[in-house]
Amino acid sequence: MRLNCPHCGPRGLDEFIYTRDAALSRPRDGGAAPTQNWIDYVYMRENAAGPRREYWYHSAGCHAWLIVTRNVSSHEILSVDLP
Ligand SMILES: [Zn+2]
Repeated sequence: MRLNCPHCGPRGLDEFIYTRDAALSRPRDGGAAPTQNWIDYVYMRENAAGPRREYWYHSAGCHAWLIVTRNVSSHEILSVDLP
């Protein structure tokens, strides 16, 4: 699998690190958020098939954060964008 970094061009997957699901957002009120909101953010996942937006980091390249849209069923890369 290769990712097409907007800065570096097509590169091997070993240059990148998957970090997290890009569709999730942290509870906005920080420490005041109810515990259940944090449990949902940290642990609860739908594990749905199909296209997913994910944060990736080009650790062995330009050190850019990327949003990769990937079909988690087929591993097809649909797009690579800058956040
Ligand atoms: Zn890059």
